[in-house]
Amino acid sequence: MLTFEWGGEPLALLPQRAVLLARHDTLVVADAHLGKAASFRRLGVAVPRGTTSETLAQLGGLVERHGARRVIFLGDFLHSAHAQNAASTQAALARWRRAHRGLELTLVRGNHDERAGDPPPALAIDAVDEPLEIGTLALRHHPEAPPGRHVLAGHWHPCVHVGGRAHERLRLPCFWFSGRAGVLPAFGAFTGMHPIRRGPGDRVFAVADAQVRELPEI
Ligand code: MN
Repeated sequence: MLTFEWGGEPLALLPQRAVLLARHDTLVVADAHLGKAASFRRLGVAVPRGTTSETLAQLGGLVERHGARRVIFLGDFLHSAHAQNAASTQAALARWRRAHRGLELTLVRGNHDERAGDPPPALAIDAVDEPLEIGTLALRHHPEAPPGRHVLAGHWHPCVHVGGRAHERLRLPCFWFSGRAGVLPAFGAFTGMHPIRRGPGDRVFAVADAQVRELPEI
C-alpha cells in the first residue's frame, strides 16, 4: 500500500488495482467489466471461465481487509448488455451481494454502462451520473477534472512499459496522475490495457509483484 495526498484527500493505492479513501471507509475501483469473458465465449472465443467470480472474490477480500463500508465503481461495471443476461455472471453477482449485505455500493455510470444498462435492482447498487462528489474529490468514469476539483477516474485502463532484466519490456498496470486527473488501472481481470502518454510532472505508480511503486518522473 502506498499513501499520498490527492486534492486534499489521503489516497492509499493498493496493488490489487484499487484506491482506499481511508477517511471515508471507501474502496474505489474502475472498469470491472464483469461478464466480459462470458460475452466473448458467446462469440466463440476461447477464454477462461470464472473471471467474474475471481474479480468479485478479490474485491470481497479487499473489503474485509480494509474494513470498507462502501465500494464505488468508476464506470464500466458490466461489460455489455449480454453480461446483464448471462446466468453465470448474474449468479456470481447475486452470491457476492448476499455475502456482503451491509455494504453500500455505488456505480458512477460510464460508456459501457450506457449500453449494458444499470445493474439489476436486486443487487442494490445505486447507479448515478458523473461526477459523484466525495470529500474534496470528484469521481467520474472519464478522466476530466471539473473546474476547481481533482478527479479520480477510470476509462483508460492505463499501463506503462518498463525495462526489465535482459532487455525484457514489461507492460504493467498503473495509477496515473496528470494535472488534476487521477486514473485508476482497470480492476477487472481480462480487460485489456492502454499505454499512457506521460507528460512532464505526471506521477505514475506501477503495480508489479503485489507492490505499488512510483516510477521516476520524466
Ligand atoms: Mn473500461
